[in-house]
Amino acid sequence: MLSQISKKALGPEFASMKEPIEACVHCGFCLPTCPTYATMGDEMNSPRGRIFLMKETLEGKLDPASIDPYIDNCLGCLACVTSCPSGVEYGELISPYRAWSEKKRKRSFSEKLQRLALLKTIPHPNRFRAASKIATVFKPLAQRLPKGFGAMLELAPETLPPKHDFQERYPAIGEQHGRVALLSGCAQQVLAPRINQAAIRVLNRAGIEVLVPKNQGCCGSLAMHIGESKEARTAAARNFDAFPDDVDAIISTAAGCGSGMKEYGTLFAGQDPEILEEARNFASRVIDICEYLDQIGFTPPENQNAAPQTVAYHDACHLAHAQKIRSSPRKLLQSVPGLTLLEPAEWEICCGSAGSYNIEHPDTAKTLGKRKVKNLAATGAEIVATGNIGCLTQIEFHSKDQATPLRVVHTVELLDGAFQEPRMHANSHE
Ligand code: SF4
Ligand code: SF4
Repeated sequence: MLSQISKKALGPEFASMKEPIEACVHCGFCLPTCPTYATMGDEMNSPRGRIFLMKETLEGKLDPASIDPYIDNCLGCLACVTSCPSGVEYGELISPYRAWSEKKRKRSFSEKLQRLALLKTIPHPNRFRAASKIATVFKPLAQRLPKGFGAMLELAPETLPPKHDFQERYPAIGEQHGRVALLSGCAQQVLAPRINQAAIRVLNRAGIEVLVPKNQGCCGSLAMHIGESKEARTAAARNFDAFPDDVDAIISTAAGCGSGMKEYGTLFAGQDPEILEEARNFASRVIDICEYLDQIGFTPPENQNAAPQTVAYHDACHLAHAQKIRSSPRKLLQSVPGLTLLEPAEWEICCGSAGSYNIEHPDTAKTLGKRKVKNLAATGAEIVATGNIGCLTQIEFHSKDQATPLRVVHTVELLDGAFQEPRMHANSHE
């Protein structure tokens, strides 16, 4: 699609938007995998429609406000990137576009308050813990509040696990083969510290020393996702200082954080060359836990007496579509003695979590959550494994009212469980 967009007029921060717009040939192959097209059924809520709308807006033919609803409806799941035969990098368009349009946008007081509540709580574990406890108490009021605030209360967990303070260093067990730094995350640290505990145990047993840098903070992905690029850069820059240079890799156990950190090059485009270089360097060292374990040839111990277990694997969009990681988690799970891996239908369709999407668009998120639960339950698996805390909580939440709610765990918890005899029950969460 030829465009009249000038990179010079966009400026270096937003210049990356031109290529995806021009690479789109309007074939429509991406439409069936787009969750909003699948549920809403109209062209303007499809990748092809959105690319066209963004082109027209950037060329000055449309008022940005007129396309805001269609852009807001996009989950940023990047299923359209996986299915596009022309290699359109939609991710390099939607994130900068959101940041570009946010600067022009006039939001209502309620919208501003909701975004502020998200940005000032979720990325800060202590505040998020306190807010979650308060939200649990006020859950009965969920239906009486405006949609977004109601969704925050509804999604609040019934109970929280005890707070876990990570040490700064976990030595390798046996001969040391490597040294990594772990992103402890923000929401995950509060909702499921067990995931990083399991990751550390697995890494240590594989001969990897794990550092958990004390001064680290949120990776900035949530802010990036909603177009608050300045806030996202501030969060990212804090981690450039907090993470040491002398480690083999920076490990993420949450697909959303891993993919966000890998995008730092785009986030810092047009900034000071020195910090842009630092951002690119940091991004190049980020790796997902499953990708890393696969690379180092990790295998769990053999166990002739392992109890059988059936596991359905849910592809988190920010792992499968954004980071192109599909085979590593499957390979690792298949190496667990006694484990049978099952594949749900519609693997490519988002579960509706998508950062803060299930708070900002609770109705669409609910439709997608229920659809995902139905597909996962249809496999008949006892356990669902995934690589992202957002998916994990979304699937758990929407399967609550099923006759048998799904047990959802992170892939690394099942690898960790393979070392324990009797095997850790995936629902024990201890
Ligand atoms: S990112 Fe996801 S929701 Fe957005 S256009 Fe692409 S497939 Fe559709
Ligand atoms: S599949 Fe790719 S080229 Fe075809 S319409 Fe979708 S984004 Fe454009």
